[in-house]
Amino acid sequence: MTIITTFSLSSTNPFSFSFSSSPSINRFRFNPHSSFQLSTPPQPKHTGAIIIGAGLSGLSAATHLNSHNIPFLLLDSSNSVGGRVRTDSVDGFLLDRGFQIFITAYPEARKVIDYDSLNLCKFYSGARIFYGNRFHTVAHPIRHFFDSVKSIANPIGSIKDKLLIGSNIVRVLTKSDQEIFDSDEIATIEMLKKLGFSDSIISTFFRPFFGGIFFDTELETTSRLFDFIFKCLAVGENTLPANGISAIPEQLAASLPTGSVLLNSEAVSIDLNHSESLQSVKLRNGDVLTSELGVIVAVQEPVAVNLLAGKNNKINPVQRKPVRSTVCIYFTANRDQIPLDPVLYLNGSGKGIVNNMFFVTNVAPSYGPPNKVLVSVSLIGLFENESDDDLTVKVVQELSGWFGEEMVRKWKHLRTYRVGFAQPNQSPPTDLKKNPRVEPGLYVCGDYLTSATFDGALVSGRRAAECLLKDRVVTLV
Ligand SMILES: Cc1cc2nc3c(=O)[nH]c(=O)nc-3n(C[C@H](O)[C@H](O)[C@H](O)COP(=O)(O)OP(=O)(O)OC[C@H]3O[C@@H](n4cnc5c(N)ncnc54)[C@H](O)[C@@H]3O)c2cc1C
Repeated sequence: MTIITTFSLSSTNPFSFSFSSSPSINRFRFNPHSSFQLSTPPQPKHTGAIIIGAGLSGLSAATHLNSHNIPFLLLDSSNSVGGRVRTDSVDGFLLDRGFQIFITAYPEARKVIDYDSLNLCKFYSGARIFYGNRFHTVAHPIRHFFDSVKSIANPIGSIKDKLLIGSNIVRVLTKSDQEIFDSDEIATIEMLKKLGFSDSIISTFFRPFFGGIFFDTELETTSRLFDFIFKCLAVGENTLPANGISAIPEQLAASLPTGSVLLNSEAVSIDLNHSESLQSVKLRNGDVLTSELGVIVAVQEPVAVNLLAGKNNKINPVQRKPVRSTVCIYFTANRDQIPLDPVLYLNGSGKGIVNNMFFVTNVAPSYGPPNKVLVSVSLIGLFENESDDDLTVKVVQELSGWFGEEMVRKWKHLRTYRVGFAQPNQSPPTDLKKNPRVEPGLYVCGDYLTSATFDGALVSGRRAAECLLKDRVVTLV
């Protein structure tokens, strides 16, 4: 039997859609009568679904609803999409808001992102580690086999450590992502010790490398996330899109219907009218938007907790833990003032404040004007008690010890980014597969429900949209 239910949204609504369901077929048809332009009044007040937050999770939810022809409005309080994945253009340089890398093996990203049009620029697969007053290379054992053989006797861990890296690649490759996220968890540091890695390789390589990825040099982050990232790094490349990291969210936004994204639109409250099965979202400017199918809250965890206060919210964090923060300092230099390889430099010395750095234009020349170099330096934590100027002086002093004062003193400071909320804290206990349903008609997504990665955010957005669609099918059948 096929049941056909048709919604008629109000006559002023730019959308109409019909929903047909049968035990085997669920099909939505979306007919935009007219498209509405971003920030051009009159804005639609009523739609199919409302998504609050246009970071990767909100964009993923929108992409999924759009692929099912569900009308939606995607709101963001800021002036652009992308959330934490943004790039600024400053004096001809592209500055990502914090050090970010796109790993091509991210499984969800492979499904929803068109890699070809991003013009991905690759890092060297490995790292150069500053330890004992000189640099040592750690290389991917397959992609840079000869470098890896050459590095076998260097002081970054013992020969046993290097063999263990190989066996750990095999260990994670034999597990599905599902198995990784379902596995027992301990802190990454405990797991590395349990696997037999020496203190030496933990402090010279794992702390700066994975500490830089998790913004957690104590390596308290769950072993599940370590295994997931380790697996992605083993099979994928570390890259930057030629037009900046924001090219990733911008690509997703570009495929959404014209006018479905409302910027500078901050949601201040959500109201669920259970009797009429209608959800409304109030904006900072007083406007009220209503939705027929549901609201997806795709904001950072602390904002979500506030927006959902008083709701039947089971999504609250398992326990309150300090969030992960970082500072990223950009410098410019001339081409003759730097080494030329596209490699990530790590601080393995255990001293100083720099965690990692790289010459961005060596990886992606499009990040700077011709013959100019962009230098990116990352610190872990927020350094709240130190001014930008003080941090810059310390970084220049420290890197002079790495590359020589003659080179580093010529670099010019360009901009400092302090990112207070870079990632949620994902130390155990974690649940990286949280249910996105707060209640029928209200859903959440964001990296705090899955893994604090681009991929986790994309997965969580899709799951929230799937949940909304499923609930509506159940209600209507
Ligand atoms: C410096 C830095 C480096 C990173 N590096 C990597 C990396 O190399 N690899 C990796 O995989 N991941 C990295 N991450 C993590 C990754 O960026 C995040 O996990 C992911 O982007 C989170 O997406 P999200 O949609 O969950 O949240 P967000 O990107 O935070 O999106 C939330 C959105 O909600 C909007 N919003 C908030 N409140 C409201 C409101 N009231 N009304 C309307 N809109 C609102 C915000 O403006 C924002 O756009 C990094 C993060 C940072 C900050």
